[in-house]
Amino acid sequence: MAPVPPPQLADYDDLRRTFDWEAEARQLDGLPNDRGLNIGHEAVDRHVLDGNGDRVAIRWNPRRGDPVDMTYEQLWRRTNRFANVLARFGVDEGGGVATLTGRIPDLYVAALGTLKAGSVYTPLFSAFGPGPIKQRIDLGSIDVLVTTARLFSRKVAPILDELASIRHVLLVGDESFESDDPRVENLEPLLQAAGEEWTIPATDPETPALLHFTSGTTGAPKGVVHVHQAVVTHYASGRYVLDLRPEDIFWCTADPGWVTGTSYGIISPLTHGVTNIVDEGEFDAERWYSIIEANEVDVWYTAPTAIRMMMRVGDDAVRRHDLSSLRVIASVGEPLNPEAVRWGEDVFGMPILDNWWQTETGGIMIANYRSQPVRPGSMGRPLPGVDATILQRDAEGEIALDAAGRPVEIDDPGSSGELAVRVGWPSMFREYLNQPERYERCFVDGWYCSGDLARRDADGYFWFVGRADDVIKSAGHLIGPFEVESALIEHPAVSEAGVIGKPHETMGELVKAFVTLARGFEDTDAVRSELLAHARRSLGSAVAPREIEIVDALPHTRSGKIMRRLLKARELGLDEGDLSTLETPAGQAAAEVSP
Ligand code: ATP
Ligand code: MG
Repeated sequence: MAPVPPPQLADYDDLRRTFDWEAEARQLDGLPNDRGLNIGHEAVDRHVLDGNGDRVAIRWNPRRGDPVDMTYEQLWRRTNRFANVLARFGVDEGGGVATLTGRIPDLYVAALGTLKAGSVYTPLFSAFGPGPIKQRIDLGSIDVLVTTARLFSRKVAPILDELASIRHVLLVGDESFESDDPRVENLEPLLQAAGEEWTIPATDPETPALLHFTSGTTGAPKGVVHVHQAVVTHYASGRYVLDLRPEDIFWCTADPGWVTGTSYGIISPLTHGVTNIVDEGEFDAERWYSIIEANEVDVWYTAPTAIRMMMRVGDDAVRRHDLSSLRVIASVGEPLNPEAVRWGEDVFGMPILDNWWQTETGGIMIANYRSQPVRPGSMGRPLPGVDATILQRDAEGEIALDAAGRPVEIDDPGSSGELAVRVGWPSMFREYLNQPERYERCFVDGWYCSGDLARRDADGYFWFVGRADDVIKSAGHLIGPFEVESALIEHPAVSEAGVIGKPHETMGELVKAFVTLARGFEDTDAVRSELLAHARRSLGSAVAPREIEIVDALPHTRSGKIMRRLLKARELGLDEGDLSTLETPAGQAAAEVSP
């Protein structure tokens, strides 16, 4: 086996001192003849111009059957054709293109072809029903929808008349669908008729490139706009956090329907010229380990829910495979419980590197690094080039200001406050679609305030406390659900936990935990008392839950996060709010898109 290459981030403090976004940007090419910066060029065209067109860009693992490779050159030709189709439609510069497909190669062609055309790309998660699809298409004034015949007939055809902004629906895949609506066409003949040559239009780095919708964990999803400049963050974080290099096989398990699946499932890996694994199938521990083994995956980027599911399946499944190709395992999307970090060390021989970011930040902001010691339960330290802090909040939850009107930074490792990032990183969002006041409210004196609460220890490691909306105030204590959940899942009987605050007369709020049990455990009084006792031992009585309810499943967003707001609404009998991103019962989402 080839020797393991040294980490590209060798010394954290050193790189922090010397880091320069401009220098990172110079690692990219920019459009020929100083015509600006375009994500599509950096992800595809430049590798072809550099003579690396025959490298595999996308290795598609279909739900069934053998993998299919697409080289950078093939991707270049097909994205050129796609851009030509958009130009013919007159929706190139500034138009909006959305995809609604499973994880298939043409999703990647459409995304990158859209960017190369100068249009704005929006991914829609394939398991959305007609309501959430319409909501997002309307909000984004989407011009072109790329989807499969199957998804079209089930989800789009019934509402097509109401989709006023849609000018073209392009069907991809093997099946076709006859529609009376002249807007509906098969993409393949259009691609074949289109030219293979395409010149990316001059692209100012501030040109909108991506419109993402947030996961809707805490409320209705927000439309978040990113510009082409964001690619500098995607590239740099790919280099320093994921440690990507051109000869790597990389696999990001996130669906491209969400920001991780776009920033790190499409853009970041391709800017590094890696071979990007795309798996059409759903989560299945055995399938996943086989993919890593068969493809000799070097770098694997996944999420806490998946990791918790793998833990539940057990260590034997891991040990049946040779996963020695792995160099980096990273996780994002939710807090990664310390238990999971340690489990990674145990079974994969390396800690899982937790990192933090949001749709709004466009790319990784805080991370654990391959070369740096990992503190299990901590999100790590800011990306070199990113300035992060903890800002004090007042009793109303607003950022507290000092006499000079400046926000107050918290240095005390024991106190939590709002996690904020200094404005100026390339992938900062530029807009909440149609909500300018909401956008303005996120910024205080040059800081972007994330809405998440965290602490920072003396060595600059950040520790997630909770979302501001989820934090519990009980008898004068501020309690983060994550801490309580992490303590619960350390108990062998617990598979997953979701913790909420429930209004209480004297305490303000009482901590209530919902847990799912690990295999082999049953819902009995004894198990519940044992869990309560375990939580009190590890957390102390002020923080431990007073109530524990054992449930069959916790509600998750479709991007895999525990939806505490829904647990709370159900507990209190309140309106359940926007449920467009609620995961449907296990298997249903998969069934909706499978042939
Ligand atoms: P909405 O904003 O609509 O409620 P959302 O915040 O879940 O949805 P995303 O942008 O997908 O939408 O998720 C970002 C959020 O996910 C972060 O603000 C944070 O709360 C959580 N998160 C992501 N990574 C981590 C992490 N490593 N540790 C803790 N929390 C994380
Ligand atoms: Mg959010």
